[in-house]
Amino acid sequence: MKKLFALAALAVAAVGAQAQTYPGSKPITIVVPFAAGGPTDRVARDLAEALRKPLGGAVILVDNAAGAGGSIGASKVAKAPADGHTLLLHHIAMATMPTLVRNIPFKVETDFEYLGMINDVPMTLIGKPALPANNYKELAGWINANKGNINLGNAGVGSASHLCGLLFQNAVQVDMTTVPYKGTAPAITDLIGGQIDLMCDQTTNTTSQIEGKKVKAFAVTTSKRLSTAALKDLPTLQESGLKGFEVTIWHGLYAPKGTPADVQAKVNAALKAALKDPEFIKKQEGLGAVVVTDKRMEPAEHKKFVAAEIAKWSPVIKAAGVYAD
Ligand code: ASP
Repeated sequence: MKKLFALAALAVAAVGAQAQTYPGSKPITIVVPFAAGGPTDRVARDLAEALRKPLGGAVILVDNAAGAGGSIGASKVAKAPADGHTLLLHHIAMATMPTLVRNIPFKVETDFEYLGMINDVPMTLIGKPALPANNYKELAGWINANKGNINLGNAGVGSASHLCGLLFQNAVQVDMTTVPYKGTAPAITDLIGGQIDLMCDQTTNTTSQIEGKKVKAFAVTTSKRLSTAALKDLPTLQESGLKGFEVTIWHGLYAPKGTPADVQAKVNAALKAALKDPEFIKKQEGLGAVVVTDKRMEPAEHKKFVAAEIAKWSPVIKAAGVYAD
């Protein structure tokens, strides 16, 4: 019995010691569930940079565990050691995947510790440069004239571009052939090359392509126009005639369930410092993203927000009949 107590005391001391030294010399890996060079990857790399100092100069790596609309990366983190050295940066799919995709291999509510939210990001509806349309009205005409012959790219079933693309097809009442990629970085390369016709993608990926006139931009998916210089002239889909169309992407940080509470607190404190870092804010704003300044930077509020998003999107997805197996 005495031995058992001694072992228990040792275990408690070990957990305390781990938190005290976290992150120590072992690198922290942020898993991004989409391809390198895309919008989620952009947010993760900027955040990794901003987290380094508040985490005591830690080495922070980004691991692109891409595929299956973001569920491969999420599953990887759900199964990773719960020691704070493997984190997940994911987006709105954490709230839409449970309805959008039946049988996802992890439970959003119970397989993760919520560490706080990062930003809100609008999407843009973009097209290949060779499209004859130069504004949304002309695009609507082109879509009607090309029914049955339109390719719409996305980052796989369950991704934000999948959700937005399905809602768009539903709103214009035209079925398109969806082409899945491991992220919208490879998809936008094919869009520029003309292999696909249209796509929805976050402004963290599209702003520079729109600025450089590499793609045609038709509208933003938010309910209000944006103020970012390169995007401010784009109409909303709502004002273009798609009543009630509104999709805003957000990103949050997660750890595997069971990560020690004091390690979670350390990551959350570092995240809050990163969200106030003027460099990080400037980079994000330049890409049309809005860094979280409200209570959603607190883990409990992050979790509440995701639950509210699940409740918000579930009926919309079901009513539109846009879920997939
Ligand atoms: N934009 C992608 C999506 O549609 C994700 C990515 O490649 O970052 O979810």
